[in-house]
Amino acid sequence: MKVQFLDLKAQYSKIKKDIDQAVAEVISEQHFILGPKVEALEETIAAYSSARYGIGVASGSDALALSLLALGIGSGDEVITTPFTFFATAGSVSKVGAKPVFVDIDPKTYNLDPGQIEERITSATKAVMPVHLFGQCADMEPINDLARRHNLWIIEDAAQAIGSDYKKDSAPSQRAGSIGDVGCFSFYPSKNLGGFGDGGMVTTNDDELAQRLKLLRVHGASSKYYYQSIGVNSRLDALQAAVLLAKFRYLEEWTDKRRENAAYYNQLFEESAHQTLGIELPSVQYNNRHIYNQYVIRVPQRDEIREFLTHEGIGTDVYYPLPLHLQGCYRDLGYKEGDFPHAEKAAQDTLALPIYPELTGEQQEYVVSKVAEFFRTFIV
Ligand SMILES: *Cc1c(COP(=O)(O)O)cnc(C)c1O
Repeated sequence: MKVQFLDLKAQYSKIKKDIDQAVAEVISEQHFILGPKVEALEETIAAYSSARYGIGVASGSDALALSLLALGIGSGDEVITTPFTFFATAGSVSKVGAKPVFVDIDPKTYNLDPGQIEERITSATKAVMPVHLFGQCADMEPINDLARRHNLWIIEDAAQAIGSDYKKDSAPSQRAGSIGDVGCFSFYPSKNLGGFGDGGMVTTNDDELAQRLKLLRVHGASSKYYYQSIGVNSRLDALQAAVLLAKFRYLEEWTDKRRENAAYYNQLFEESAHQTLGIELPSVQYNNRHIYNQYVIRVPQRDEIREFLTHEGIGTDVYYPLPLHLQGCYRDLGYKEGDFPHAEKAAQDTLALPIYPELTGEQQEYVVSKVAEFFRTFIV
């Protein structure tokens, strides 16, 4: 049996008619930059994320960088974030001339550990950038609390967390992208809502901030050829917006399917005595709605297991093999091995299994049986 890590062709084949029609419409209209399709998507994503405004941009990375610019963060400023994330989180901070300051993660959820933030706050700290990693919200209550007390902005990196809820049963419910001051989304093809190329969006409840973001994505132009600030070219294409709008109709159904798949993996691993094998399953914080952009387990001998699964036709991935504080490009920041032990350990023993909505129960059974076989054959 073959189990791809992600099967976008399977997704496309199910919704081909919708997508092809949406794309054909844009082509016949010949309106490619921003416009009504982008506006419709902005309203849709903002509403879905419980935010007042959505501002479409060229990528999730740009969503982060433009948010920082809009908040006036730059040279001489510090932003506190996690070293266990995709590079763009910290990269965006560096790109605007500010300095990323890392804090270790909670080893259960892999998200920023709020308990370690305060000791890292200096007079230069301007913002905290929590990442809702793998689709589960960071522990936002203590982060919001700290931010309020120290007068810091909160920029949510919600690239992997569209539709994810924090404390879902408390009122008002808190959804990724509207818990902090700004939320940053990515429509990179592997995200739960993925386009046919790059795309991103910023969400916010603040109208002044929304206006600033709208200027910044068009070079800072307040009207055509008049520039109020120095921005960049970072717009969302109408073609991407059309594809995303067509896909959005299925997002809730896909998310449910991802959550069902995660529950089924959990059941299968429990039946195969995962604990005695030393396998750790994803941990969901009480009352959170995890949307499983990734289903990540911890396993001893991660690299060997991955090789074995590849050989058996099963695709897996590693997010992320080297934490950001140890990356070559950040040597100047002065971190060393041992600074963030939880992030460093997670980089060594976490493994992402296929979790996409089109995955079948049979495929999941095959994956778990092969993981168990690895342990029986090579470990015991
Ligand atoms: C995907 C991702 C980004 C960047 O998004 P792009 O659209 O690829 O630029 C940023 N942060 C995290 C956590 C991501 O997963």
